Amino acid sequence: MELTPKQWRALEAICDTFAPGANGTPGATGMGVPGVLWDAVGRNPREAERKQVAQLLSLWDTRLVTALGGGGLTRFSDLSPARREEVLRAWCDSRIPQRRAAFQALRKGALLFYYMVPGENGRSPVWDRIGYPGPLGPNPDAPRKALEPLAVDRDTTLECDVCVVGSGAGGGTAAGVLAAAGLDVVVVEAGGYYDDEDFDGGEFEGYGRMYMYGGGAATHDQSVALLAGSCLGGGTTINYTTSFRTPDDVREEWASHGVPAFAGDEYARSLDAVCERLGVNQEHNAPSAREQALQRGLTGLGWHADFMPRNVRGCEQGKVCGYCNYGCRLGAKQSTVKTWLADAYAAGTRILVGTHAERVIVERGAAAGVEARTTAGHRVSVRARAVVSGCGAIHTPALLRRSGLENINIGKHLRLHPATVVWGVYDEEVRPWEGTMQAIYSDQHRYLDGGYGVKYETAAIHPSLLVVFSPWRSAAEHGRMMEALPHSVPIGVLLRDRDGGEVKVDRAGQPVVKYRLSDYDVHHVRRGVEGAAEIHEAAGAQRVFSSHSRDVSYTPGNGGRARFMQEADACGWDTGRCTYGSFHIMGSARMGGSPETSACNPRGETWEVRGLYVCDGSAFPSASGVNPMISIESIAHMNAAGIADSLR
Ligand SMILES: Cc1cc2nc3c(=O)[nH]c(=O)nc-3n(C[C@H](O)[C@H](O)[C@H](O)COP(=O)(O)OP(=O)(O)OC[C@H]3O[C@@H](n4cnc5c(N)ncnc54)[C@H](O)[C@@H]3O)c2cc1C
Ligand code: SF4
Repeated sequence: MELTPKQWRALEAICDTFAPGANGTPGATGMGVPGVLWDAVGRNPREAERKQVAQLLSLWDTRLVTALGGGGLTRFSDLSPARREEVLRAWCDSRIPQRRAAFQALRKGALLFYYMVPGENGRSPVWDRIGYPGPLGPNPDAPRKALEPLAVDRDTTLECDVCVVGSGAGGGTAAGVLAAAGLDVVVVEAGGYYDDEDFDGGEFEGYGRMYMYGGGAATHDQSVALLAGSCLGGGTTINYTTSFRTPDDVREEWASHGVPAFAGDEYARSLDAVCERLGVNQEHNAPSAREQALQRGLTGLGWHADFMPRNVRGCEQGKVCGYCNYGCRLGAKQSTVKTWLADAYAAGTRILVGTHAERVIVERGAAAGVEARTTAGHRVSVRARAVVSGCGAIHTPALLRRSGLENINIGKHLRLHPATVVWGVYDEEVRPWEGTMQAIYSDQHRYLDGGYGVKYETAAIHPSLLVVFSPWRSAAEHGRMMEALPHSVPIGVLLRDRDGGEVKVDRAGQPVVKYRLSDYDVHHVRRGVEGAAEIHEAAGAQRVFSSHSRDVSYTPGNGGRARFMQEADACGWDTGRCTYGSFHIMGSARMGGSPETSACNPRGETWEVRGLYVCDGSAFPSASGVNPMISIESIAHMNAAGIADSLR
């Protein structure tokens, strides 16, 4: 879709109001942001959303829209910078949720690209301004890729025992287990194959190549950013390597959904096998300066703190390690590419990348294969005796619906572990983009009400995550906040959500995610935000601020925290009021004991189609309460062993 000159003018004016440039650095238009942003809109698979953005831009530079934003009867592009900022703030604070959602989408689009695009010579002047070193560049000593995906250059038909769709935590593990059982497996992965030699630590390239929708996915109303891997290895290629086993109380809860295996030896054996294959250990936890702040705060308060279990072998934990979420350049991360897919490949599994599964072929009530299409447009038909969906908890419901399944639970019971961030700004430089991704955590408030509450974790931070989890009230204030990046420490408040959302599927077969935090869950987030502020105080932060849409911040001392919490309450915890992100997407095609309450039976097979199994985060009966990779791999391991038995 081409933009009209009027739409361009609106887009440029919006981007330059968010980021006009300062101290000699160019503004958003000078950095090419409007063009990059519009390209990203073009990659949104939902046509309705692409049209909505174009429509907003058509109307934006009219007197009516400026008047709605309190800017009088002058067109937005003719207003002074200060008046434009007032208009944007009015959208941010609007009582109308759709306007707040539009503001958030524009804010994130304009500012993310402003701080991520590398610029003409590969080194953005904006990074120098905020003291960020930028990407590492490729590792010249990286080994060549170990796998060779099947090349498809024409319409193709393949035959196999099992077709596995998706190669992430669930799909990759299932492929490894099935291939080890002697079955002929074909893996169909929509994303590309990137490995040690490709990883350069660049945010722009990293999100663009390896994340779902280039990192720009969000719930329908923009209230929760959705982050997921979309490449060979899925989330396991870009994740933070935190490797918790499913807690015992959660296993009991899952068993009570009609899947007794979760509480028994069968699942325990799968947990053991997964942790063994991934080399999970607690010996790679050198705390970076950022993690030391968390540790100091927790120790000072006398709160629970422990070292993260991690799936790494020979992890360096040094300066390059904060770039782990754009791929490990050292080959230490035990992603499915390095483990289960490598095993499957060695056993003869064929792997297709850049190939999107459109539907499962269903014949006489049973799965008979998969229809797919490559990015170059070639049709691929995979005939199989069984099909595994490992597309992740957003795309598995869409694949099932596109394949004609009607069970009411498909898409329901979505859980997101919504995470928000409380920032501490410290006197000393912490360079939060460096060091072990996640070394320390706290379960101090994990059990606020029975099995529900929050975990405290921190993670390496590059400009993008500060942009997402922070307010924009004016260009000058935002610029100062970004310039404090080298001194900023995030404490993530990770909620185990009891009440969830839903993945709906539109007429074109695309997923649409609806999610709203219940009052019950908000209560826990609120305690978590206060807890994170307490940790920062105890660690010696000079300033603390939250991820609310307004400036909710304080300087520790003199009752500051009480006022901080009052301001947070006044701003609100709802859509567009407080920023949430989800790194853990679960539960949308859950296993259970009955088709009335679940989409899959206790073996992970859909209730409606024989031989069609779900092996990914969708299968969780409820939120895991811990980072979910090990649980997903263990479910895939257990279900795949059952599939292998049934096909022998
Ligand atoms: C930045 C980040 C950090 C994280 N850190 C941790 C961590 O430290 N510890 C932890 O436990 N968890 C972590 N997670 C979460 C964890 O990685 C995911 O929960 C997990 O990978 C999900 O597994 P999955 O099998 O459900 O889906 P994914 O791993 O997302 O895999 C799904 C795959 O299916 C492909 N696909 C989708 N649709 C189709 C289709 N139609 N046809 C073909 N292929 C398709 C996708 O491209 C993708 O590669 C993190 C996630 C993110 C985004
Ligand atoms: S922390 Fe460093 S060495 Fe370890 S897996 Fe991540 S990038 Fe690789």
